[in-house]
Amino acid sequence: MPRFSTDILIGGQWRPGAGATVETVDPATGRVLATVRTASVDEVDEAARAGARAAADPAWRDLPPHRRALLLHRVAELIEAAADELSAVQTADTGKTLAETKALALSAAATFRYTAAALETAEDALTPSRGDYVTMSVHEPIGVVAAINPWNSPVASDAQKIAPALAAGNAVLLKPAAWTPLVSLVLGRIVTRALDEFGLPTALLSVLPGSGRTVGDAIATHPLVGRIGFTGGTDTGRAIAAVAAAKLVPASLELGGKSPTIVRADADVQQALAGVMFGIFSSSGQSCIAGSRLFVAREIYDDFVGELVERVRKLRVGPGTAPGTQVGPLVHHRHRDAVAAYVDLAREEGGRILCGGAAPEGEEYRDGAYYLPTVIDGLPNDARVCQEEIFGPVLIALPYDDEDDLVRQANDSVYGLACGIWTRDHRAAWRLARRVDAGTVWINTYKQFSISTPFSGMKDSGLGTEKGRDAIRAYQRQKSLYWGTSGTPLPWAG
Ligand code: NAD
Repeated sequence: MPRFSTDILIGGQWRPGAGATVETVDPATGRVLATVRTASVDEVDEAARAGARAAADPAWRDLPPHRRALLLHRVAELIEAAADELSAVQTADTGKTLAETKALALSAAATFRYTAAALETAEDALTPSRGDYVTMSVHEPIGVVAAINPWNSPVASDAQKIAPALAAGNAVLLKPAAWTPLVSLVLGRIVTRALDEFGLPTALLSVLPGSGRTVGDAIATHPLVGRIGFTGGTDTGRAIAAVAAAKLVPASLELGGKSPTIVRADADVQQALAGVMFGIFSSSGQSCIAGSRLFVAREIYDDFVGELVERVRKLRVGPGTAPGTQVGPLVHHRHRDAVAAYVDLAREEGGRILCGGAAPEGEEYRDGAYYLPTVIDGLPNDARVCQEEIFGPVLIALPYDDEDDLVRQANDSVYGLACGIWTRDHRAAWRLARRVDAGTVWINTYKQFSISTPFSGMKDSGLGTEKGRDAIRAYQRQKSLYWGTSGTPLPWAG
């Protein structure tokens, strides 16, 4: 069992927060892992002020990009060295399997490395001159920025915001989700150590656990916070957007999803079966891009869904620490109950529960937040369970008749985050990929991620983009410079 830091990071200082006490729970056992004293509103203010001073410190402000890149490389090294600890802490806090959390830790290191490379090669522009002047467009840090994250993949989400925000020259206030503060605190230690080694102000990163309503709101509304990077639910995203609008600051919003996975009659069935199961049941379905609506061509529907259900029944459910576990517990008992309530709703709406639909039985599951991988069908796409994000191991299967019917149903959703297409027909894949409302489309694969590829949602799935080369620019302000080249006074002067 790893050791947990319960001190939090406020403007460069590690200490218990003065805010409410939060118990974080291991969802595999129900046992309390740690009691964290969260930040108070005054401490958010302290962190923001310390961050503003740190961002303006010449040691940081005047550090050229290629030297800031060295800091990011060092953070990556330290993350790699601590990958097992980061993995163990995140598995304990979220219930995810160790294989997944190790991959997430390594992806966080890769994010820092990629961002360092992007930073070293990011260019400002000399724009075409249209007069007696040379024109340039340059990018500058914003100052203090917020990174507000959900609980489902904390270390990866944290890295996706902290790396570009630091690369851009800012100070960062990181707010982990109330249920899962522990891995963000370990990451905070790593970044503080790297800052220390480089003689830079440690107040460049604060890690401020606490509730969204108190700590999250205090961060978002703080007058010194000049940008909000947010990942979470759509309702919270709208509230953040309203705060950003009132302050006239930019915000990026990575929000919820209800993503369609499409299996055409010409698909490679073995590949599609594996991909559909991985797309929804990995991370126990607690993934924004989970393929939670399965559309199967009517002519193969019964055979495909029948075989799928047989395989889903065989998925190995267990604690994230057990080798071989495929489906771990959900993040929290309260979330498990919310998922179970959706399955009850599906029953009330007339759905057929083809497998799962309950917590697993057995002594080993008694205290954990487990729920069986569940497949439901017999419901139209306008049923609530087809329209609302369940964020758990629940797949709804629907048949489709032809391409127009498929596109109509797939796009009949407030969300537009991701889509999977399983087919051997590349022309059909091209047509569908372009017609479906989704920020990411996977063709004959699913839930693969690359830090070099931009990520964003359409419709209620979000606004703004993370990842890719431009991620750093999103954390900067653009400025235009005009350099006069003529010795002649402007005509107005007479
Ligand atoms: P959530 O919206 O409840 O919380 C997200 C974060 O916002 C938490 O840190 C929370 O404390 C904070 N928060 C809540 N209210 C706030 C407020 N008024 N002001 C400021 N901060 C506030 O989401 P969650 O339940 O933690 O996570 C699940 C959701 O996240 C799902 O909808 C999922 O789809 C989404 N998600 C999206 C992506 C993506 O990239 N699109 C990735 C992961 C998760």
